[in-house]
Amino acid sequence: MNTDTTGQIHVLLGLPGSGKGTQATRICEDVDIIHLSSGDIFRRFAANSHSNHLYRRIREHIDCGELVPNDLACNIVMREIESIHREGKGVILDGFPRTLSQAEFLDERLSENDGHISSIINLAVSEETSLERILDRGRHDDLPEIAKKRLEVHLRLSDPVLDYYRCKGRLVEVDGDRAQDEVKTDLLRVMGVEI
Ligand code: AMP
Repeated sequence: MNTDTTGQIHVLLGLPGSGKGTQATRICEDVDIIHLSSGDIFRRFAANSHSNHLYRRIREHIDCGELVPNDLACNIVMREIESIHREGKGVILDGFPRTLSQAEFLDERLSENDGHISSIINLAVSEETSLERILDRGRHDDLPEIAKKRLEVHLRLSDPVLDYYRCKGRLVEVDGDRAQDEVKTDLLRVMGVEI
């Protein structure tokens, strides 16, 4: 266990509503590490969709519960990861990689730079819990029809990401259907981070 997370990359996977964002935010209160949520980045861009054609394209995808196209997602998120590394910080990735080609892209880019992923965690909750939590939080892309669509897209495109890391023997499952403190303790243990 260590307190220095410099240069580390921790990947937090899980269904929408699995608690990735909540847990990453809580961990960042105690550990000097950056929470990088691809959903937050893209929502920020979408909020400025009036100013830019690219942002408008991103908004169109978010608003119908579809994923932002892979090439865009990869370039935008990778730029952020590299900027965090330049600042000498570690990062928890929340929402990326979300497709097999994003996972392969991340591995390729990291290996080109002698980097690697420190931990890969699936925050596991049932589909029922996922839908319930999404509908409870009331974000504008969390309306019932869009929420269902996002869950469906996730199961179709993101399950292969779990299989990809599972086959490499890298995936650790953490039960996300428990009290927040218990989940957080487990996550920190798997990340090998001491607070
Ligand atoms: P989230 O907050 O992670 O549920 O993401 C909200 C929305 O942002 C998703 O429904 C997608 O439209 C988009 N998004 C987030 N992460 C990604 C990603 N890695 N690849 C493509 N689209 C993404």
